[in-house]
Amino acid sequence: MKQIAILSGKGGAGKTSVTASIIKLMDSVVAVDADVNASNLPILLPHFPRSTTAYYGMDIASIDHQLCTGCGACITVCQFDAITQNDGGRISIDSDCEGCAACAFTCPVDAINMVERKGGDWYVSTINNGYLVHADLIPGEDNSGKLITKVRNEASTVAKEHDISYIVIDGPPGTSCQAISSITGTDLVLAVVEESLSGLSDYRRLAELIQKFSIPHFVLINKAGFSQEVEDKIVAAAQEFEGTILGQIPFDHKIPQALQDLQSIADIDEYRDIIARVLTELQTTLTH
Ligand code: SF4
Ligand code: SF4
Repeated sequence: MKQIAILSGKGGAGKTSVTASIIKLMDSVVAVDADVNASNLPILLPHFPRSTTAYYGMDIASIDHQLCTGCGACITVCQFDAITQNDGGRISIDSDCEGCAACAFTCPVDAINMVERKGGDWYVSTINNGYLVHADLIPGEDNSGKLITKVRNEASTVAKEHDISYIVIDGPPGTSCQAISSITGTDLVLAVVEESLSGLSDYRRLAELIQKFSIPHFVLINKAGFSQEVEDKIVAAAQEFEGTILGQIPFDHKIPQALQDLQSIADIDEYRDIIARVLTELQTTLTH
């Protein structure tokens, strides 16, 4: 089983539309949306939900008011100011709780227990040529890296069960911990780089991150055609970071129009070959 991560150093580079296009041209695949904070791949991939599983990100403190004496020791020990006491002496724990459990260890009468807090859901769906695994983190919930790992593990299980050779991961934008969770253990990375100065700058950060993991990477320049100078700089940066340029997709109003119609870039005749070439290159690299 081979895993391809598709990433961009910034939002708006066209990563998800490229990912959906590549997935649509594959014979069989397990698609993963690792952008658990803003899952968009399911919008572009027609899918049929098969299962939903609750995700519990971290434990939080819960008070047993029958046992609590109102001594206030837990308030003193909480470094996150998550515990308050009202005029009547009643203790409350608010959503700032980070689950460190210091209060539970401190309470002299064992009135605090650590309990699971639901952080979101993850889903397995069928798509025309395989499966889609994605998740939704509840806004404000933390531990998205853990959820990405869960989603990726589930994708591996599904791929093994159904004898599917490829997992394609639509990573989150940027170079955060979530991007790291999306890259770890993959066989190659495709960087979708917007042809702009900010796209270049963000690509350089992403390429540095990829290099740390010693994973081969390829570059697809998107929204190209505005500046030969910027394009040349992206090519030079790719050489510097040992990335291979696979091609470019020009800026074309047909593309956002196609996305609005829930089509992919591969559904536009003149760009289908570019996406097909990129896919062939990725698969050829993975089989050598
Ligand atoms: S678990 Fe930690 S963060 Fe949460 S209320 Fe207790 S001391 Fe504060
Ligand atoms: S330490 Fe325990 S007994 Fe004291 S106020 Fe907190 S919960 Fe209540």
